Amino acid sequence: MDHSSGLLAAFGRAVEDETRLRWALESADIAPMLMVLVQLTGDEAILDEVAPFINGPWNFMETVPAGLKAKVRDRLVLALQDYARGERNGPGIPDDRLLHRMMEAGVGQKVSPEYIPLILEEMGVHDRDPRTVDWRHRPSPETLSAFKVVIIGAGLSGIGVAIKLREMGIPFTIYEKNETVGGTWFENTYPGCGVDTPNHFFSFSFEPNHDWTHHFSKRDELWRYLEDCADRYDIRRHVRFDTEVSAARYDEASARWQVTIKGADGVERTVQANAVITAVGQLNRPFTPDIPGLATFAGRAFHTGAWDAGADLKGKRVAMIGTGASGMQAGPSIAADVEKLTIFQRTPHWSVHNPNYHRSVEDGKKWALKNIPFYDKWYRFQLFWASADGLHDSLQIDPSWPTPEKSLNARNQGFRDMLEKHIRDQIGDDPELLAKTIPAYPPYGKRMLRDNNWYKTLKRPNVELVNDRIDRVVPTGIVTKDGREHPADIIVFATGFQAGRVLWPMEIEGRGGESLRDRWGEDDPRAHLGMTAPGFPNFFMIYGPNTNLGHGGSIIFHTECQVRYILQCLREMLENGHASMECRPEPYDAYNERVDAAHRKMVWSHGGVGNWYKNASGRVIANSPWRLVDYWKMTAEMDPTEFAFEPGR
Ligand code: NAP
Repeated sequence: MDHSSGLLAAFGRAVEDETRLRWALESADIAPMLMVLVQLTGDEAILDEVAPFINGPWNFMETVPAGLKAKVRDRLVLALQDYARGERNGPGIPDDRLLHRMMEAGVGQKVSPEYIPLILEEMGVHDRDPRTVDWRHRPSPETLSAFKVVIIGAGLSGIGVAIKLREMGIPFTIYEKNETVGGTWFENTYPGCGVDTPNHFFSFSFEPNHDWTHHFSKRDELWRYLEDCADRYDIRRHVRFDTEVSAARYDEASARWQVTIKGADGVERTVQANAVITAVGQLNRPFTPDIPGLATFAGRAFHTGAWDAGADLKGKRVAMIGTGASGMQAGPSIAADVEKLTIFQRTPHWSVHNPNYHRSVEDGKKWALKNIPFYDKWYRFQLFWASADGLHDSLQIDPSWPTPEKSLNARNQGFRDMLEKHIRDQIGDDPELLAKTIPAYPPYGKRMLRDNNWYKTLKRPNVELVNDRIDRVVPTGIVTKDGREHPADIIVFATGFQAGRVLWPMEIEGRGGESLRDRWGEDDPRAHLGMTAPGFPNFFMIYGPNTNLGHGGSIIFHTECQVRYILQCLREMLENGHASMECRPEPYDAYNERVDAAHRKMVWSHGGVGNWYKNASGRVIANSPWRLVDYWKMTAEMDPTEFAFEPGR
């Protein structure tokens, strides 16, 4: 913890203008304020007094009386002033006992002590980023400069790993098929596109943004954040934009990858790399179903992931196919503008209401995040906890549960009751619509969505929800199996991505010319810890097989775990002069067996529902079955015994 003059100055700035400080505290959240107060004063009595009114990790779950809130604010002002005057030492990180008490009080729930080191790391309370990988024996400048890493993709993961490679002084080049950085947050421009994870947690742990305008921000702001990160860390000059990687082949003689790239000029070139890191995401290649007659459609037809900016929807009859996360954001965002919105739903999704979903962040709260020491850390902890592992046990199948088709266990049934009630509250007066919108399968069988005014939209007079199967497209619209034609001027495909075809359409050839595609088949990818595979030396995947988060958490958290692990791998090679490292078959097989065994007991394997998490044979290939804390532990220290190394050439 920083006891420096910098921290003293920070306290000084916080109390410089008491009126402004008090104004900020009016809109700051009580739980993080309380945590800061206890951290500064060690006052457990106030913790005891307030804790019973904090009933959960979301800020809308507290019922702290106004008088008590005022008391916390007053005391916090005094404590900050004391620190600013230099009348107190520290503050340090409270000891484990108090920390644990504070954490439980702050989220109004039990927090297992196993989370404490993870949470401290995630909150960034340390002097330096604990996810930075330090050299144990720094290689010579010649060794470092001779080593070349190719990163494929300048989205969130690509930028994240680039920032950390730069810190270590390892040379790298990013190849990016788009004209700029941002990946999914650059490409997806459909109306309403945004994030479903609270933003103050959905950001790099080492690069907090205190200016998010909303609790759940929209695409433009998320993209700008990634643009800013690329600039702040001077990443852009390492990126070759408009350059797509089509293949990577491992040359055993030189222990190098031959990477085939194609630039804007259309000419293919080969570049060499000692290591390749893929950062292309699981949801990058849109899936458009091959519906008979589609080519005959007279209007514009496009995918949410490749939104046609030239299409004017105003006053048009729009047919939207698909009701997943993209559809549930796009539909309500266009409904008011179009003449008619016909939504084709194959399976209803579950969606949860969150009062913060559309709320903006008050200016006072932004000020508190920026200026009150530790407030932002405790706020991030709250959000981490709100969206982390709390649900995990409710997604486990109870073999003795009497209604397995509807829910998995008592807690999962509790969610069903709550979610059903929400739907009934929204559209209970329309039994036909109600029957179409309540899913038959257990909650979380598909990705849990946020109710973006979805049910309200379905009730609009110009919106129709069709759940008859689509038969064909005709020039003037869509015909369903019941023979009815639904006229449309525009078709929007909100039909998801080719998630099972990990790394497609790239051709990756490892040792002996074996192709990853041949190894995995069309849709059966697997990797050790989601990152490495035998036969593919010096080849690392970020957001690879079985690393998607289905139960909660931020994918950025998972990315940061993977980045640290991969950097440890590179360190191992560079420090020891190895030419290559390759995951051994035994840990790879054992890991995948563990993944499959865990998944067999979890919700995504449920036979009663399809989802993009599993492949044609029912194996869950996209999601991690682990709690965040489990994966964090598994990846915190790379185990060299799981790899075979080749000496330097
Ligand atoms: P998705 O969840 O895979 O949804 C695709 C939708 O298209 C489903 O409703 C699916 O129906 C339907 N569909 C697919 N093929 C069809 C066909 N041939 N005929 C009729 N309907 C068809 O895709 P997505 O909405 O793009 O979301 C994918 C993932 O991206 C999400 O799960 C999430 O991880 C991420 N995402 C996140 C956000 C966010 O954070 N807010 C926003 C967008 C995307 P079935 O359900 O019957 O298969």
